Amino acid sequence: MTDILASLDGVIMPLGEARVPVTDRGFLFGDGVYEFLRVYRGRIHLADGHFRRLERSLGEIRIQHQGMGSLRRRVQELISRSGHAEATVYIQITRGSAPRAHAFPADAKPCELFYVTPFADPYGEKRANGVKVARHPDIRWGRCDIKSLNLLGNCLAVQAAKESGGHETLLHKDDGTVTECGHSSFFAVLDGGIVTHPTGPRILPGITRDLIFELAAACSIPVRQRALRVEELSKCQEMFLTSTSAEILPIVVVDDATVGSGKPGPVTKALQAAFSRHLSDWLASDEAADSASI
Ligand code: PLP
Repeated sequence: MTDILASLDGVIMPLGEARVPVTDRGFLFGDGVYEFLRVYRGRIHLADGHFRRLERSLGEIRIQHQGMGSLRRRVQELISRSGHAEATVYIQITRGSAPRAHAFPADAKPCELFYVTPFADPYGEKRANGVKVARHPDIRWGRCDIKSLNLLGNCLAVQAAKESGGHETLLHKDDGTVTECGHSSFFAVLDGGIVTHPTGPRILPGITRDLIFELAAACSIPVRQRALRVEELSKCQEMFLTSTSAEILPIVVVDDATVGSGKPGPVTKALQAAFSRHLSDWLASDEAADSASI
C-alpha cells in the first residue's frame, strides 16, 4: 500500500497511514456513500456522470459536503501527484464520527477519503472469451439506486458466485425478476434488441450503463428498459455485464447453462468495438484534456 496515495479529510498521505476513529458512522452503520472512477492516461473517464451520481447519493442520505467542484479538482490533483496514468480512484464519504446512536448526530463532520490505485487491467481474457455468472436471490435493501457503503447483500452473493466458479452473481427478486449483478450492470440480448432493468430503486444507475445507451443508439441497436424474468434467461441470445473497471464483459454461462453459442455474440462485440472507439475519441478530445487540467 506504500505506492497508493490517499487524501483523508484533505490531508495527503500513504493509504497505509490513513486512520479513522472507530466511532465513524461508516464503520458502525455503513452510514456513507462511495464512488469508483477509472483513470485512462491520467484522465478521469465519464467524470461528470460519476460526480453527479456521488452528489445525488449524498443528497439522498442527507450528508452535507463542501461540493463536487472542489472534490473533483482535488481528486484530479491526487491522480497527477500519484504519477499513475492507468489507475482507479475510490472515494468514500461518511456522516463522520459520533457517539453510537441511530439518528443523525447534530454536529458530526463528514469524513472524506479518496485514494488512487494503479490499474493493471486484468480483464483482457474475460473481455475476449466471456465469463460465467451464478444466479442468487437479491437480498439487498430497497434503495439500490444509492451507492451506499452497505454492500453485505452484494458481498454474500458475489462470494457464492466465486465458490461456484463464477466471475459475478446475477441477482433476482422473489417476484422472479432479474435486477443486476453484484458489482456490475446486467444486459441481455433478446430478438436483436437489448433488455435491461429499468432505472429505479432496485438497481444502481451504472455510469457505464448510461454509456451503453449512447453506444447502442449510435450502433442502431434498440434498447428496452424492462425487468427480464428468470424464465426468459434461457431464451436470450447474448448477455453481458458492464462496470467502470471491467467495461463490457460477455456472459457466456449462467449457472450450468450456456448462453447462445457459448461465445461472445455479435451485439456484445459491436458494443465492445464501439466502446473502444469512444475511448480513443475521448482521449483525443479537448474535453478529456480539460478534465485532466482541472
Ligand atoms: N451495479 C452495482 C450493484 C455496482 O456495484 C456497480 C459498480 O460498482 C455497477 C452496477 C456498475 O456501475 P458503474 O458502471 O458506474 O461502475
